[in-house]
Amino acid sequence: MLSRLAINAPRQRIAAQQVRKISFDLSDTEKEIQAAALKFSKEVLAPNAAKYDKSGEFPWEIIRQAHSLGFMNTLISEKYGGPGMDALNTCLVIEALSYGCTGIQLAIAGSSLGAAPVHLAGSEEQKKKYLGMLAAEPIIASYAVTEPGAGSDVNGVKTKAVKKGDEYVINGTKMWITGGGHAKWFFVLARTDDNPKTSAGKAFTAFIVDGDTPGLVRGKKEQNMGQRCSDTRAIMFEDVRVPKENIIGEVGAGFKVAMASFDLTRPYVAAGAVGLSWRCLDESAKYALERKAFGTQIANHQGVQFMLADMAINLELARLYTYRSAVESETPGRSSYNASIAKCFAADTAQIAASNACQIFGGAGFNCEYPVEKLMRDAKIYQIYEGTSQIQRMVIARTLLGHVAQNGTSRM
Ligand SMILES: Cc1cc2nc3c(=O)[nH]c(=O)nc-3n(C[C@H](O)[C@H](O)[C@H](O)COP(=O)(O)OP(=O)(O)OC[C@H]3O[C@@H](n4cnc5c(N)ncnc54)[C@H](O)[C@@H]3O)c2cc1C
Repeated sequence: MLSRLAINAPRQRIAAQQVRKISFDLSDTEKEIQAAALKFSKEVLAPNAAKYDKSGEFPWEIIRQAHSLGFMNTLISEKYGGPGMDALNTCLVIEALSYGCTGIQLAIAGSSLGAAPVHLAGSEEQKKKYLGMLAAEPIIASYAVTEPGAGSDVNGVKTKAVKKGDEYVINGTKMWITGGGHAKWFFVLARTDDNPKTSAGKAFTAFIVDGDTPGLVRGKKEQNMGQRCSDTRAIMFEDVRVPKENIIGEVGAGFKVAMASFDLTRPYVAAGAVGLSWRCLDESAKYALERKAFGTQIANHQGVQFMLADMAINLELARLYTYRSAVESETPGRSSYNASIAKCFAADTAQIAASNACQIFGGAGFNCEYPVEKLMRDAKIYQIYEGTSQIQRMVIARTLLGHVAQNGTSRM
């Protein structure tokens, strides 16, 4: 039986401001958390992965178990009733759950993106109410920024919020919203300044919108290539009235809130990709030790060994950088550069790992009865959501060029 270890252990969390000395060893507590999450992942997520992949059904039963074990909304502090894990432990949990199934993992942990802006810039009342809600029950929150005409270019968001007395009236359509069919509340970015010349940093406002507000319409569940049990939908806002108390931060500061949230959550997306790459390597190595060709196990062929070695190199590096970016996300200041490096590298790693896993499995890699075909479908999204790999490279290049211009070196 799984214990409630996952809830209790992280209470000895590292103080957010405490700078961690370089150490590549996890503490005993961190190892225990990871082991507990991996046990849950292997015993519950992995055996159900194919079933939920086929049906596309939202995995409520597993979500409820994850919540009761403290594996959901891990970052919500104890003050609001949450498990109060730090970012590194959150990554350890996400990595372990992703080993079993990244689709179910996203259904469990996807609310962290909706919660991040409240965590970063919400008022005490908003934190108590909306983070408290997520901590108390296994419910879903969504982050609604992307639109049919604006994904990478967030400045192109057209959803409008117009002030009417003490309320704002929101109109517009959001697209590809994770958890959208089930969310109890949404983080919504809307334009509050009509002037097209107003900079992004001043033109948008961030809102919390309750899922049952009249005028909020949920689209049909999208049929995606991978992570199929995660719920993705368009969300329409038709004269949705929101009290001004639901503004997160200042009027006009929404763009900054939405972007700063990625510093927190991109390490988690990276951790998901690391978990998937880890699974690819394990499946591939085990298969290579069993499968024979030319009178010997394929693991004895150098061409196969090189693929496994490349997978190991990338996995170890992606894991290290993910942990680093997670630790940095809790130190003062922005951590976009390392969050983008971690997300971009881990996403590319997952893509290559899944492709190599299919190659090592040969014909069986292309077949639905074996696990790696699903891993390949699931891997692709890591290069797309929470900023495409091109957008991560833009963030990285912008930061490094600014640094070189100021300091004459790229060494930060
Ligand atoms: C399954 C899924 C879940 C998602 N969940 C959410 C969610 O919960 N909330 C949310 O708000 N959004 C979500 N998204 C949206 C996701 O973040 C966007 O799809 C992503 O940011 C890309 O935007 P786009 O699809 O509009 O592509 P576009 O922005 O149209 O980009 C198309 C291509 O052009 C490239 N490109 C664009 N601009 C540049 C540039 N300046 N330089 C170089 N290349 C460029 C992109 O990298 C990409 O390859 C989700 C998407 C999917 C598929």
